[in-house]
Amino acid sequence: MLAEIRGLNEECGVFGIWGNSSPAHLSYYGLHALQHRGQEGAGIVVTDGEGLRAVKGEGLVSEVFNEDKLRKVNGKAAIAHVRYATAGGSGMENVQPLLFHSSTGSLAIAHNGNLVNANHLKQYLERQGSIFHSSSDTEVVAHLIKKSKLSPFRAKVKEALNLLKGAYSLLVMTKEEMLVARDPHGLRPLSLGKLGDGWVVASETCAFDLIGAEFVRSVEPGELLIINDKGVTSDRFVDMQGRAMCAMEYVYLARPDSDIDGINVHMARKRMGKQLARECAHIEGDVVTGVPDSSISAAIGFAEESGIAYELGLIKNRYVGRTFIQPTQELRERGVKMKLSPVVQVVKDKRVIMVDDSIVRGTTSRRIVRMLKEAGAAEVHVVISSPPMTDPCFYGIDTSTHEELIAASHNVEEIRQAIEADSLTFLSAEGMIESIARPFEDANRGLCLACFTGKYPTEIFPDTLLPHEKELLG
Ligand code: SF4
Repeated sequence: MLAEIRGLNEECGVFGIWGNSSPAHLSYYGLHALQHRGQEGAGIVVTDGEGLRAVKGEGLVSEVFNEDKLRKVNGKAAIAHVRYATAGGSGMENVQPLLFHSSTGSLAIAHNGNLVNANHLKQYLERQGSIFHSSSDTEVVAHLIKKSKLSPFRAKVKEALNLLKGAYSLLVMTKEEMLVARDPHGLRPLSLGKLGDGWVVASETCAFDLIGAEFVRSVEPGELLIINDKGVTSDRFVDMQGRAMCAMEYVYLARPDSDIDGINVHMARKRMGKQLARECAHIEGDVVTGVPDSSISAAIGFAEESGIAYELGLIKNRYVGRTFIQPTQELRERGVKMKLSPVVQVVKDKRVIMVDDSIVRGTTSRRIVRMLKEAGAAEVHVVISSPPMTDPCFYGIDTSTHEELIAASHNVEEIRQAIEADSLTFLSAEGMIESIARPFEDANRGLCLACFTGKYPTEIFPDTLLPHEKELLG
């Protein structure tokens, strides 16, 4: 669905490249492929082996960069970032990669995910004299690295990583090397690829396809890759602590042409749609339609399995810009209509099965149901290709309170009434796990399901720092 009208947004996307003569330009293309993961800011930091230089700004990738800016920062390697502001708020100082200069050298950091203990770490560091420049939790990581007395640089980074709790796919770059880390549960995706003699890393494999890079493998949870002119070295900063890849990446967040841990996102969504059709075989309909864009794959799967024709019942207006401030209900209604339109000839007098990937607040679903009915649909049956979202996410998706989630306080029948649908069916958690079909033996086949079950793979409200953590911080 349309991220900006539903209240469910990814936090960020990261991209890195080492060993290429056009790292700024290739990062630009990489960020284009990751634009769906964040539209509020973008940045690239380049090293030429002598120092680090940044170009960044607020807005879309195409608004932030131009040929002139990219040419000025060329070198041999870069890290890059697209941002959606969930943690730390917006503002230029929070646009990543964050770049720090000191007498011992410069350092850039790009981060996807949310740290659940950032505030504790920050308070502790501030009491010890650190001054923070941004409100981003990523800055904490830089202070931790800087504070470490270990050597070499990778040992400092490993020590810092061991103090972090939560979700992180992290790129750290100096003029000599790029360090790539994924949290011990692998909550957010991160892949390694090859481009000529150089190396690339990205939140999603669709970025590799766009620049002609070849996928090599996923970065393992708890793994630290060191990439420099000699190639790639794999190290660990901690043992893997049970895979828990975000299920919503497969359901909604990632691009359908990306593969996550070897599973193509479009195919996983199609299987979820097929499973959903099996789980609601009692529903009678004349036409199946998906809410664009992310529900189309599931709708195709649903139609294939049920034998009911798939049709384009809803069209997305591609030329609507990012959300403007919509303070009143009336303006919000108009906002949705600007972004989605029903195809009257498809839905008129039909029993429409409307496939969507999730329900957050329920307000958007109700608007779409009303829109289809106003266009003449005889019945609207809403089928959702994921289970009810009952609990907030603390790992980088911006549902951070129960109040934002209709399923936290309403059962399925109450939600059906609220969205004014003729019927409402959610995919079962078991059906979702089996449909995604990840090749792992871990619990839930290595998926995080916390927003459907309330069972979080990490501590989420650490009360304070543990004694050994304080000791590490000095
Ligand atoms: S809580 Fe939900 S949205 Fe957050 S990481 Fe887990 S599965 Fe993804």
